[in-house]
This record gives sequence, C-alpha cells and structure tokens, in this order.
Amino acid sequence: MSATGTRERAAVPSVARAPSEPRELAGCALVTGASRGIGAAIARELATAGWSVAINYRSDREGAEGIAAALGEAGATALPIGADVTEPGAAEALYSEAESELGRVLVLVNNAGLTADGLSIRLTDADWDRVLETNLSAAFRLTRRALTAMVRARFGRVINVASVVGQRANAGQANYAASKAGLIAFTRTVAVEVARRGVTVNAVAPGLIETEMTDGIATGLADAIPARRPGTPEEVAACVGFLASDEASYVTGTTLTVDGGMTA
Ligand code: NAP
Repeated sequence: MSATGTRERAAVPSVARAPSEPRELAGCALVTGASRGIGAAIARELATAGWSVAINYRSDREGAEGIAAALGEAGATALPIGADVTEPGAAEALYSEAESELGRVLVLVNNAGLTADGLSIRLTDADWDRVLETNLSAAFRLTRRALTAMVRARFGRVINVASVVGQRANAGQANYAASKAGLIAFTRTVAVEVARRGVTVNAVAPGLIETEMTDGIATGLADAIPARRPGTPEEVAACVGFLASDEASYVTGTTLTVDGGMTA
C-alpha cells in the first residue's frame, strides 16, 4: 500500500469507503465483541477488504445492528450474532449461525474483552475468573472451533486482540495482564501448530486506545505516550486488516504492537 493510500485511509471514516469486490475465497470473517470500539472498527476494516462479516455482541444488540446496517448500506454483507463468548456452547452456536448464513469462517478475530481492575491483594476470585474466561479461555474455544475449516481450506487467519499490558506491568490489572500475556503465548504456540497448513495466527497489542473501555482516562494519560495521544480503534483495525490480508501470508506467531511508541 502506498504512503498516499495510507494518508487517504486515515482521513476517511472506514464505513464511508466502498467495500472491495467480494473475495474469491468463499467464506467470512467473524469478529467477537464487535458492537462498538475496536471490534466495530475491525468489522468495518474487514468488510472494506471484501469479507462478509459476522458481528458478535454480548449485550449491545442495537450497536451491533447499527454497524451491520451501515455496512449493508455501503454494499457489504454483515450479520449481527448475539452470544456471550464465555457461555458453554457459545463457540458452537456462533459458528453454526455464521456458517449457515455466511459460509465457512476463514478469518477469526478474538476481540471480545473486558477489565475488572483491582490491586492483587484485593482481587476477588470472581473478577479473576471473569477476565480470564472472557479474554483468554473464550479465545481458545473459538480458535479450536475455527481451525478445522481453516486447515481444510488451507487458508485461515486467527487474530487475537491482546494488549501492551500483556507485555509490561500495569498495577491494578494482574488479571487482565495475565489474560493478555496468556493470549500472546497461546498465539505463538497455535501458530507453530498450524503454520504448514496455510493458517496464520497472530496478535495485536494495542496501547491506550480511545473507546468506552478507557472512557475518561485516555486523554489524561497522553503525556506517557511518545506520540502524545491515545490511538484510535481504526489504527488498531488497520493492523488487523493487514494480518488478515493475503500480503501477510508469511507473518505468523507474532504480536504487532500498536501503541504510539509506549512500549518502545
Ligand atoms: P469496549 O469498547 O469495552 O468493547 C468491548 C466489546 O467486547 C463490546 O462489544 C462487548 O460487547 C464485547 N464483549 C465483552 N464481553 C463479551 C462477551 N462475554 N461475549 C461477547 N462480547 C463481549 O472495549 P475495546 O476498548 O473496544 O476493547 C476491545 C479489545 O481490545 C479488548 O479485548 C480489549 O482488552 C482490547 N484492548 C483495548 C485497549 C484500549 O485501550 N481500549 C487497549 C488494549 C487492548 P457488548 O457491548 O455487547 O457487551
């Protein structure tokens, strides 16, 4: 992609861009937690690249339907699917619906995530479990479900949304840090297991990104970031778009940090 292309992309809201021609590979992309924030931007990015997109949400049905409708108006195919990824059987339910409506899932983005912060000395079992279940165990179950069809197709992209907190300390987030560090290690290992099959498995590690998750704190922390600003969901989505692309076919087992230089 040319430098000019990159500048144009940054200036234009993703949803306003015309989607590419539908891809030749019959299949779709599934993005978990795509009702808002980074997941919604990833859904827009993949739709713009020509993928039909399954937009998973847990509670924000209106948000997911709004994103799907906007993508539909722009000429893309997008299907909202409600499922709490931590529920037993959620992976199967999500996959059944996505596969029956849109075809096999060739791109899986494990984006659904949450925080439940507290210093370790006071962290409850419930907050530990909730964060690990959502951010790590659900990603494992969805990836496991994804791999058979990808291996059979000899093409697949699994992209896990980790965090810089999986790479460096952040007091008050021991549960979140453990989940994201686990996700990064999981990414590396699965990548090696399926590398021969045309399936790549990568992670992105965003720094501070302006979304509901960081509501109210993002701008105040800008001084700690070399770029002197929080990132946008679209800047993370662009990296996911690259990892999902044909051009990234030899990139696997890695974590792409998207943090304005924070961890540099
Ligand atoms: P957000 O605005 O809070 O959005 C979180 C999304 O995850 C929502 O769509 C939510 O769905 C969904 N979700 C949460 N639990 C779910 C579950 N059990 N099942 C299905 N969906 C679920 O967060 P965000 O900032 O966009 O974060 C997205 C990802 O990026 C997360 O993995 C987060 O850890 C990671 N990240 C964010 C930042 C940041 O600075 N924002 C930095 C590093 C990494 P509902 O609204 O429908 O419940």
